[in-house]
Amino acid sequence: MKILVLNAGSSSIKYQLINMENYAVIANGLIEQIGENSSLARIKYLDKEGAEQKIEHKLPIPNHEIALKLMSALLIESSAIHDLNDLDGIGHRVVQGGSSFREPVIVDEWVASEIERLIPLAPLHNPGHLAGIKVSLEQSPSVPQVVVFDTAFHATMPPHAYMYAIPYHYYEDLKIRRYGFHGTSHRFVAKEAAKFMGKKLSQLNAITLHLGNGASVSAIQNGQSVDTSMGLTPLEGLMMGTRSGDIDPAVLFYLARKEGLDIETLDRVLNKESGLKGICGINDMREVGQMAEEGNEKAQLALDMFNYRIKKYIGAYSAALGRVDCIVFTGGIGENAHNVRAKSCENLQNLGIEIDPILNQKRSSRTMQISTKESPVTVLVIPTNEELEIALQTQEVILAHKQKLH
Ligand code: AMP
Repeated sequence: MKILVLNAGSSSIKYQLINMENYAVIANGLIEQIGENSSLARIKYLDKEGAEQKIEHKLPIPNHEIALKLMSALLIESSAIHDLNDLDGIGHRVVQGGSSFREPVIVDEWVASEIERLIPLAPLHNPGHLAGIKVSLEQSPSVPQVVVFDTAFHATMPPHAYMYAIPYHYYEDLKIRRYGFHGTSHRFVAKEAAKFMGKKLSQLNAITLHLGNGASVSAIQNGQSVDTSMGLTPLEGLMMGTRSGDIDPAVLFYLARKEGLDIETLDRVLNKESGLKGICGINDMREVGQMAEEGNEKAQLALDMFNYRIKKYIGAYSAALGRVDCIVFTGGIGENAHNVRAKSCENLQNLGIEIDPILNQKRSSRTMQISTKESPVTVLVIPTNEELEIALQTQEVILAHKQKLH
């Protein structure tokens, strides 16, 4: 079975073709700057000899329709497929599924209209996803297509975790609540953690930390998300590359009154100019770490704040869960930055968390334990694979759908 995973944004489309027999990536690529003159379409794949090859075209790509036609042409040119009908399924990533979608679903007109209805809750993401889905349905009508939502894994949160303490009618009228994001990643690493721990997912209590440019943490009880740090939008929670994370909302009123900042400016400041970048001017954790080592005080402060926030959430979610079997670090920072892992888990022995400094320095492309043998809570580093998780869920939905039709 060959499944194509599509992550369509407003001006870019990432794609990956996966062989579901062995979960190998057959090809992956990117189409960038759609709508501009300097667009780029790229594919990377392994040739018959197993050597990595790349094809790249620079040309104006005016819209998603042309972008997806180019992607098909590249998949055919690289011999990954002969034509689009070779695909057994297409899995679309959608960031915001609101309260409508608790699980991945086969795309139909109603599903597309719901994704459209949810645009006000994800104005930066859902329009691009929708454009990708519509064009893909037109170009490959005979290939089953599934949407996998970032929010769906968190649909199991209880109301006391997802409600905000603001007038109730805002929830009823406008559906303002915590939704949570990165669900595909939290779900994938929770499944991998359960395998590593020799438990069923339904028996696992875990705190999963997805630390990348965006960062979020989830409390997972009996395999289900019961709380997560991102909220109505991916702005809440941990400190991130350019996002503030948790902040007293009154700071915004104060800035508006004192500095005359309007809503658009405040939105930009909190989403694009805050986080690591806001404190030390740089949002890339590698550079921030390097600057801190060289004695840059603001970089050190940014790092200390980043780690302290993680530690606070580990404490909060340990309390929420009662029993924690494991803590999982994932994402570009979680998988690579051993100093972040060490500092955010420092002095947490009374919560049963003890990292082995030597194991923590190791690198692995597989699940790796970094806690001591004696540590009651196991601490793991697990490389996330959101594309594979989308492909697995797409496959599951397609197979279940076929069975229902028989
Ligand atoms: P992601 O969004 O998951 O791709 O993660 C991107 C973040 O991971 C950036 O802040 C990178 O600086 C960070 N990152 C990647 N590799 C390393 C590394 N070796 N050490 C520290 N941070 C890293």
